[in-house]
Amino acid sequence: MPTPLTRFCTPTLLAVAALAALASPLAQAQATQSAAAAPADERYVWDLTPLFATPAAWEAERQAVVAELPKMQALKGTVATGDAAALLTALQAQSALRLRLSRLGVYASTQQSTDNRNAQYQERGNLIRAVFGQAAAAGAWLAPEIQALGAAKVEAMLATEPRLAPHAVNLRNTLRQARHTLSAETEAALGAMSPVSRAAVQARTLLMTSDIRWPSVTIDGKPQEVNPTSYGPLREHPDRAVREQVFKAFYGQLGQFEGSLGQLLSSRMQAGTIEAKLRQHKNAISANLSTHQIPEAVVRTLVAQANAGLPVLHRYFKLRQRMLGLPDLHYHDIYPDLVKLDKRFSPEESARLTTEATQVLGPDYQRHLKAGLSARSMHVFPAPGKSSGAYKTGVYRMTPYVFLNHHNTFNSASTLAHEWGHGVHSMLADEAQPPETAGYSLFTAEVASITNEVLLSEMVKAQAKTREEKLFYLGHALEEMRGTFFRQTMFAEFELAAHDALERGEALGGKKLTALYCSLLRKYHGADQGVMQIDPAYCTEWAYIPHFFNPFYVYQYATSMTASSYFGQELLKGQPGLRDKYLGVLRAGGAKPPYELLRDAGVDLASPAPYQALLARMSATMDEMERLLATR
Ligand SMILES: [Zn+2]
Repeated sequence: MPTPLTRFCTPTLLAVAALAALASPLAQAQATQSAAAAPADERYVWDLTPLFATPAAWEAERQAVVAELPKMQALKGTVATGDAAALLTALQAQSALRLRLSRLGVYASTQQSTDNRNAQYQERGNLIRAVFGQAAAAGAWLAPEIQALGAAKVEAMLATEPRLAPHAVNLRNTLRQARHTLSAETEAALGAMSPVSRAAVQARTLLMTSDIRWPSVTIDGKPQEVNPTSYGPLREHPDRAVREQVFKAFYGQLGQFEGSLGQLLSSRMQAGTIEAKLRQHKNAISANLSTHQIPEAVVRTLVAQANAGLPVLHRYFKLRQRMLGLPDLHYHDIYPDLVKLDKRFSPEESARLTTEATQVLGPDYQRHLKAGLSARSMHVFPAPGKSSGAYKTGVYRMTPYVFLNHHNTFNSASTLAHEWGHGVHSMLADEAQPPETAGYSLFTAEVASITNEVLLSEMVKAQAKTREEKLFYLGHALEEMRGTFFRQTMFAEFELAAHDALERGEALGGKKLTALYCSLLRKYHGADQGVMQIDPAYCTEWAYIPHFFNPFYVYQYATSMTASSYFGQELLKGQPGLRDKYLGVLRAGGAKPPYELLRDAGVDLASPAPYQALLARMSATMDEMERLLATR
């Protein structure tokens, strides 16, 4: 089962670039190892010609955009005059440039992810990254000039120049950031130092992908290297002895580098803390949350409610132990499937199920979904050189592209439903919003995608033909709630505790991170209540999670699962007016802060209620499973 951490289904191009920078060497390593037969059938390979007819057309456009950059630079100083027409000209130039860059970037990044070995794709990727840097530099003057105008002047311009209206959200965001923006001199110094602060991420990637010599274990008579890529599938192995061997080998080796990896993570967290303080934020977490105006109470409530719900998680572990027929339960027993399902889910069947499951979202949703599914907009099967995982990307008001590694399993079907949740979200927002506010943050993005998974899960469960099939879907739903709600919240709690320690001025090395992580592993998995045994060697798991280098990010998977669970369940119950509220969230794109959008649609993620509803759903799923098990 792919965890959310293997899904790079981020909505914005920049976020894709940031995550790709974090993960690409790993993705390349995996792609070359897991090379499977690629059907040449073009129905399963996307058509990029709507973006650019030929690579030559792409290159011509790239050069045209580069030639445009001096014009953007030449506008420097015009906004500072306080003239509304000048502000409009600059903002329109910026928007137009962004759209063209997005088209160039999507073409290059989609191509590259289908074959990382292709030198031309790599070159196009490097070329466009350079243009992105040049474009950022050419427009770097704009935000400071807007901030220098001040809120009163900008609001007066908004009131008198109606053509500024599409830019209002971005203008107010820029103004809001003013008090966290430093003098031009200091900003330049910080910018110049940024490669140094990014060094920790790069050093970790190098350690994990090339410097650490990963051990091999013998599985079914064959040697198998246990590295950060193969560890994921290997931990699901049905043979307990194999799993134990894999865990011991992997964490044993990782433990050898506890000191270096701990220093790197600690440096990353320290850099964030220092920058937050310099920028007049209370701490690193409030700096991160301020970007999308998410109240700190969301993270704190999430963690408190997950802790209150630990008995539900422990009940699930007990059930898992019983179903696997194990005398006791260890941390290496979490991942194997509870029930086997032989059913195959072809891409066509997965698309059909997604369409049927989302009927409750109404005709407008269906219209967009069908348009997306009938275009040649998916890259479906694994192929040599192809990146791992799945994502959705696209250009404003064009059919989105969905990247998959479809294995004909139920999990693949669920991933297709997930990615088209992102796809239709974009189609709805693009239709309703100008380009300036059509983009959305992860906080609502993952709600649109996980809601589709919840709807699919509920439908297949209701339609299951056999007891075993029903048990499989129930087990799948439980595993999603464990992995997406509890595990991601445990990660968030780890980040909070580590940052709190830094703020108290404590030294944070590998040993301390391991001790911190160990106490959370033990708490979440009920070690003291005799639910699960945690081998101390596994407590270096923090070093395996790349997302800790992107602080206060993963909690959004847990909040999204919570909101999606609410929407999925209530939509199926037919709560009056909820469909329109839900579609309203999707159509709003980035027009309002994402926390407010969800709150106004009925899910206040700073309050305990939605988390309690998720826990109730998890308990109800177990009740159903136990009833079925009693009928054997
Ligand atoms: Zn997603």
